[in-house]
Amino acid sequence: MIKQLLEGVIGQEDVLNNYNATLIYKELPIEVNGFVFYYHGIYCIIINKLLSYYKKKKTILHELAHIELNQLCQVNKDMFEFYIDKYEDEANKYIKKILNEIK
Ligand SMILES: [Zn+2]
Repeated sequence: MIKQLLEGVIGQEDVLNNYNATLIYKELPIEVNGFVFYYHGIYCIIINKLLSYYKKKKTILHELAHIELNQLCQVNKDMFEFYIDKYEDEANKYIKKILNEIK
């Protein structure tokens, strides 16, 4: 899905609908770009509204990668953005890999 999004074949709303995800903009501490958690069958993606447009887009992609890579099931319902570094790496690598594929 993220690949099609980056290729411009589908839009952000399509991806959100497909994953049953909702996007919420909130004022967060400046060091936090965003996070994602799974609650009652819905993925909630929280994005720091203080970020620039570009950084918001990048953060949304990053959080979508967590969903696409199924990383949230592995840690149950916990919010995990803040404390599991291993997944942070994987999500970013995944986006980079897709970007290289479509260049
Ligand atoms: Zn993350």
